[in-house]
Amino acid sequence: MRKTFKSALCIAALLCTSLAHSAEIELKLAHSWPKGFPIFGTSVDEYASLVEELSDGRIAIKVDSRNKHKAAFGIFDFVKSGQYDIGQSASYYYGGKDPDTLFFTTMPFGMTALEQYAWFHQGGGLELANEVYAKHGIEVMTGGNTTMQMGGWFSKEIGSVADLEGLKMRIPGFGGKVMAGVGAVPTNIPAGELFQALERGTIDALEWVGPSLDLRMGFHKVAPYYYTGWHEPSTELMYFFNKKTMDSLPTWARSVLLNAAKLTGFNMTVQSQHESSVNWGLITTEYPNIEVRDFPADVIEALRESNNALLKVEAARSEMASRIIKSQADYLDTTRAWTLIGDQAYLNNIGK
Ligand code: CA
Repeated sequence: MRKTFKSALCIAALLCTSLAHSAEIELKLAHSWPKGFPIFGTSVDEYASLVEELSDGRIAIKVDSRNKHKAAFGIFDFVKSGQYDIGQSASYYYGGKDPDTLFFTTMPFGMTALEQYAWFHQGGGLELANEVYAKHGIEVMTGGNTTMQMGGWFSKEIGSVADLEGLKMRIPGFGGKVMAGVGAVPTNIPAGELFQALERGTIDALEWVGPSLDLRMGFHKVAPYYYTGWHEPSTELMYFFNKKTMDSLPTWARSVLLNAAKLTGFNMTVQSQHESSVNWGLITTEYPNIEVRDFPADVIEALRESNNALLKVEAARSEMASRIIKSQADYLDTTRAWTLIGDQAYLNNIGK
């Protein structure tokens, strides 16, 4: 972070002209995506613009994509160390840094986007996330949701659990652990390398997002079976803030940074819904070779059993993990009962 104080420096008259357009607070931000990557990356550019606008130009944010910093999964370390003041990424990429970060993106068989936002902002979820990240000198805020993700792209149909045995699949987070529990071999690969990995056979299958982002990646050319979702019902991206930077800022600046993140999150979520709707509409006309499938019921049951067993192991691992899992399970019970009698009954009633 660099703070400049124009009024003081302007005593030296020569400096005034060059600083006339510089901000009082200059911050650096790193995100996980290629430069200008649709929705995920562009929403960060919009965040920087929004912060500048809401602060009337007093805060400037320099955004670096992975093209610049070269470390798609390095955001946690960048912000922890203070190399960057702000980061935007997915919390579940950092399970190797702290396993408790895995819970704050989305969970297999877990909450939908609206349910999870209610948990984050009304049900204590964000407080739990901040408790985990505070140990690393990081403060977090929700940053935008993909809404429901598809189950991924497969070169062959999945007819039974046996078909998952030894299957090399790009699937990060808790979903990857669940897949490992039924015999698959999960791995994580950055967005910019996904197609190549699938085409070269480094992986047999992958999940990325959904119609909002998947179709333009060309995965269907290699793996035409497109499965519906179970593992990421509500993938939330997150803004990470270096705590020392945040603590050194005036209240108004902190408020702008956090509230702009929240608002950017709303905008990104709405854009995800829009882009998935529009792109899904093109499936039959533009992509007739894609075969949409649901996983067989016994595969879903095996995945659910693997998920339940893993949650038990995780809850026993640490007191923090146990509290997060209980908080999510209790909140899901409460909010899902309403979703079923609200949204689901409505959809059933009207028949389409
Ligand atoms: Ca995904």
